Amino acid sequence: MNYLKFWGVRGSYPAPFGSHMRIGGNTVCVELRVDDHILILDGGTGIIPLGNSLIKQDKIKDVTILLTHYHWDHISGLPFFVPVFIPGWKLNIYGPGNSQEEIKKRISGQMIDPYFPIEVETWLADINYLIAHKAEFEFGPFKVETFNVHHPGITLGYRITVHDKTIVYVSDHELGFLDQAIDARQNEFNASESEIMNTIKAEERQIALEHVKNADLLIHDAQYTPEDYKIKKGWGHSCYVDTVHFAMEANVKNLYLFHLDPNYDDDKAEEIHLDTINILRQHNSPIVSNMAREGLIVDIDSL
Ligand SMILES: [Zn+2]
Ligand SMILES: [Zn+2]
Repeated sequence: MNYLKFWGVRGSYPAPFGSHMRIGGNTVCVELRVDDHILILDGGTGIIPLGNSLIKQDKIKDVTILLTHYHWDHISGLPFFVPVFIPGWKLNIYGPGNSQEEIKKRISGQMIDPYFPIEVETWLADINYLIAHKAEFEFGPFKVETFNVHHPGITLGYRITVHDKTIVYVSDHELGFLDQAIDARQNEFNASESEIMNTIKAEERQIALEHVKNADLLIHDAQYTPEDYKIKKGWGHSCYVDTVHFAMEANVKNLYLFHLDPNYDDDKAEEIHLDTINILRQHNSPIVSNMAREGLIVDIDSL
């Protein structure tokens, strides 16, 4: 089967709490396995059990990892991803950055004394650091396009086409970023300035929609409830209500709410998902929505 598997769905920090186990506590990591080629999205703690499962097979020893950015919840599993220590394995690691050296530095920077016992030089696999920023590339059956999203620092989203199916991965993205920044200063603008700002907002929205539109599967930041988003505006994450509306406007087929706040337990996650279903029903939307959860496998060819 050609599939997508969620190995970690939690944003910000690991949440290995009893009350969180149906959704899972590992930070973000998603595996795409198609025609015996493996593409890994982000290297949060979810990449650790993925690495442990990979070394139990010897058919595939070549993986490509796409990093959206270098916040801890996206890279902290890499020092424990066992294939890096094994000669004969090949890893292509793509991330945002201006040079390969810079990308290597950003990843290895979390593995230096006094924060970590061993340095990146102990990695014995053949590792290539590659620039993902503003790039389009192909790997096995995958065609990958990158785009920028609103999140502190340079952060990427990935649009992946494989077997005529489109999967879009946007782990960290504050959909309301521009709107709230402009709305907060609305009374400083005169009529014509307001008009310009509204045009900018509409254009930005259009650009964001272009990258996501008609996706068969969208994995998108849905970190906060509306109440929590009110006090966490500008932190770089979306309220799930904004995510659902964005998915409807982009005409996606399947939506996976992702990068859930680690403060939310399973009951809260269920409430969020039920409300998502309600919103979609109210709008007569055909979108199938899901709460991404650890261990969930999606058959790509059946999308
Ligand atoms: Zn994150
Ligand atoms: Zn982040």
